[in-house]
Amino acid sequence: MNNNTANQILPLSRELFPTLANNKSLIYLDSAASMQTPHVVLDAMNSYYEQYRSNIHRGLYTISEKATTAYEAARANVARFINADPAEVIFTRGATEALNVIALGWAEQFIPRGQEILVSILEHHSNIVPWQMLAKRKGLKLRFFDITPDGQIDEDAFTKMLSKQTGLVCITAVSNALGTVTPIKRIIQKSYAARAKVVLDAAQAAAHLGARADLLGGPDFIVFAGHKMYGPTGIGVLYGKRQLLEQMDPVFGGGEMIREVMTERSTWNSLPWKLEAGTPPIAEAIGLSAAIDFIRDIGLSKIHDYEQSLTSYALDKLKQLPFIQIYGPADINFRSSIISFNIDGVHAHDVAALLDEKGIAIRAGHHCCMPLMQRLKVPATARISLAAYNTMEEIDTLVTSLKTIHAIFHRTHGKKITQPAHTLGNLAKAK
Ligand code: PLP
Repeated sequence: MNNNTANQILPLSRELFPTLANNKSLIYLDSAASMQTPHVVLDAMNSYYEQYRSNIHRGLYTISEKATTAYEAARANVARFINADPAEVIFTRGATEALNVIALGWAEQFIPRGQEILVSILEHHSNIVPWQMLAKRKGLKLRFFDITPDGQIDEDAFTKMLSKQTGLVCITAVSNALGTVTPIKRIIQKSYAARAKVVLDAAQAAAHLGARADLLGGPDFIVFAGHKMYGPTGIGVLYGKRQLLEQMDPVFGGGEMIREVMTERSTWNSLPWKLEAGTPPIAEAIGLSAAIDFIRDIGLSKIHDYEQSLTSYALDKLKQLPFIQIYGPADINFRSSIISFNIDGVHAHDVAALLDEKGIAIRAGHHCCMPLMQRLKVPATARISLAAYNTMEEIDTLVTSLKTIHAIFHRTHGKKITQPAHTLGNLAKAK
């Protein structure tokens, strides 16, 4: 088999991904934190480092021109992936930086004092904290809209909160903690009817459902990260509607983002470079572009269908374990490939540590969603997140291991465990 091309058969071969190929017995169930990177992405980045390593935009020599062409081609490829104009695609260090640029740039300038920012209680800290900081600086109000008992957006609660005061609505397309797929089309429609702008966090959607900028007139801003879509770390994307990006002043100053610098003032470069100060992540942009080609070669809808069948299988298996509580929507149609759960009487960190001993990598904790954990009244959950290289056999091994973990804890501590054996003191207490 050729290691350098995307095998069209799902599940994707482990041989396509060096970390999976080099750790034969590893069961990697933490793709929502970071996905595995295929050879094709590493090859594209290595080719830059080995063949035409140089800075971009300024070099008047062949390899620099080649690097510039590759970097701008990467931008054009991202633009095609989300159906936007390349001028609307800004490379950042990650989704977090992209959200901070929106807060420090556009929102800082254009949301008037006294207005409200609405965010869902599902959000990752990256889609909460920048808004909290902005609200404090500018005298804005940050309000959270709630979820239903099974972890879906409570659309009635959201609709009731919308008003003339709403300046901005910030929502994730997929919850990184529960896997909930949010009703973004309706959220966008209702927000626009209230004349509010919309920020869509597509960090957990880009590699599973896509991140289309032309969805119903489009969200005003979209953010996502390369490392959650088979790409490298250190790169993210900020998409913004052209007129909004044109309006805003740059957040970072330095080289590349200027047209002219005088001793007393400067003028700005045109989009997208106005918002990219300094040497950008060149290799990473090239890697992200290769990751997008990789996804395209397999087909996003094929990936999605496969992941849905895997998630369905995992949900069915987990539901058969009477000692497991699963969080998030019961209906697979409102879920992506993330499942959060707890084992009765066992702390999620203990579950993760014991699974690690069996070579199974999962995430446990608050998942950077402390407000959501407080809402669910749990200090932490265990979370598996699946990608196109995972298999049903891996789920079976997970389920067998969870049975063993439960049995060990119950043998050691008796049937009625109210206090986890290895409670970790630094977690927020359940209310
Ligand atoms: N938004 C969501 C939904 C996420 O899951 C994450 C990361 O887990 C982020 C934002 C932040 O992404 P990054 O750490 O790449 O900036």
